[in-house]
Amino acid sequence: MFEGLTGHVVLPGDCQYAQARREWNKAVNKFPSVIVYCYEPGDVANAILWSRRQGIPLRLRSGGHNYEGYSTGTGKLVIDTSCMNRIYVDNNNDTVNVQAGTRLAQLYEALSHYGYAFPGGTCPTVAIAGLVLGGGIGLSTRYLGLTADSLIETNMVDAGGNTVTANNCHHSDLLWALKGAGGGNFGVVTSYKFALKRKVNKITLIKLEWSDNIPARRDFLRIWPVWLETLDRRMSAFGGIYKRGAWLYAFFYGRADAAEYILSPLLAIPGITLRQLEYVDFIEAINSISATYSGPEAFKSTGRFMQGPLLPDQVDTLLNIMDNAPSEASSYLSVYSLGGAVRDKNEEDTAFYYRNADYILGASSTWKTEQEAPVHSRWVANAFQYIYTISVGSYINFPYGALPNYQRAYYGNHVLRLQNIKQKYDPDSVFSFPQSIKTAGI
Ligand SMILES: Cc1cc2nc3c(=O)[nH]c(=O)nc-3n(C[C@H](O)[C@H](O)[C@H](O)COP(=O)(O)OP(=O)(O)OC[C@H]3O[C@@H](n4cnc5c(N)ncnc54)[C@H](O)[C@@H]3O)c2cc1C
Repeated sequence: MFEGLTGHVVLPGDCQYAQARREWNKAVNKFPSVIVYCYEPGDVANAILWSRRQGIPLRLRSGGHNYEGYSTGTGKLVIDTSCMNRIYVDNNNDTVNVQAGTRLAQLYEALSHYGYAFPGGTCPTVAIAGLVLGGGIGLSTRYLGLTADSLIETNMVDAGGNTVTANNCHHSDLLWALKGAGGGNFGVVTSYKFALKRKVNKITLIKLEWSDNIPARRDFLRIWPVWLETLDRRMSAFGGIYKRGAWLYAFFYGRADAAEYILSPLLAIPGITLRQLEYVDFIEAINSISATYSGPEAFKSTGRFMQGPLLPDQVDTLLNIMDNAPSEASSYLSVYSLGGAVRDKNEEDTAFYYRNADYILGASSTWKTEQEAPVHSRWVANAFQYIYTISVGSYINFPYGALPNYQRAYYGNHVLRLQNIKQKYDPDSVFSFPQSIKTAGI
């Protein structure tokens, strides 16, 4: 039955299966029929063709970080590209070729040897594949743009098992779609070529915390969106509030004294408990943020695009939501800055639609035992319900299964264009999952 599959095949019953079926989100508990670890595009093509011959639907996985577990499924063939993780830096032309399964930590590290900064995400184990296909935001976004904004070429294995190279000259419609429409929709991307925009020595790493400081939460929510409106694009930040405090982590492409001046509205929030502003090597800043992530955990999480300041009653409601959180420290409302270089392109330039959003507002909750899952998931659902009413759209890399009218929410006015591209490259919807793009007319 498994004839034709190449690469490393893992089946239920194999000793590696228990580990191999797992995603980053421990709450995802699926049982694929087959998992194929691919080493080259030929393995990917064989897996796609096998899945079609056998009538076993497939899912694509690289880093396994999809919030809702859309990179796996019970009874599915999982095509896993995590072993395809080679990196080639072309120092003469300021480009890097990265295979799909490359983890961000690996990429940052490789680029740092040549002195390049890179606008990736903050979690070291997220793979480049899923990050860039959804847009990709992090602590260099306002200065260097979305991860997808640096993308200049991709190689993708399509539903027929053929390799398609997409760049500005060939299959430019596909390249457009792969810059923000999310993973798993058009084919299996095996490698990416990025333009490297900046060499950098040192940047300022910022960590601010207001622990055990309930009043700081209100100040934070009030000041954050106003502060962002005129924020120097050399600074990008994420932070948020939890039951008993607030925090902000940021990068500034400049010196610490300038960063301190820019941060003054936030530094003025009373009762700060951690105040770190350090001018350090870029890779040191990356590693310091990476270290704040623990290993895989069970969670529910989501995020929506926001525009404009929060009104006083909106701040009140968000604080009220936070007060009703199921945990002291592992339920939180988070914010991620946008703007700056994200707006250097307009919404037609790439599939990433919400270029004019100011920031993302998310709700997340993590838990330890399965019994706790319902109360945490319910809290996120309640928070989401409210955030939905004050936001403009959803970030595909922070997907939410219960999102109504998901195509519109993720893609805004790009839905039809994306459906037509889907029709062209995957007319039989071989690449499908609960929130995939539908082919035109469906
Ligand atoms: C702890 C944590 C921190 C995060 N931090 C950030 C952040 O700072 N910034 C940010 O923007 N996002 C962040 N994310 C979200 C992250 O970017 C997305 O979950 C991303 O899609 C993960 O990619 P992956 O390859 O690791 O995951 P996967 O689950 O393997 O894949 C994600 C999606 O891409 C598809 N896919 C995977 N491989 C391929 C491929 N080779 N070709 C085509 N499609 C493929 C999958 O089917 C799935 O739909 C974070 C997520 C987590 C869990």
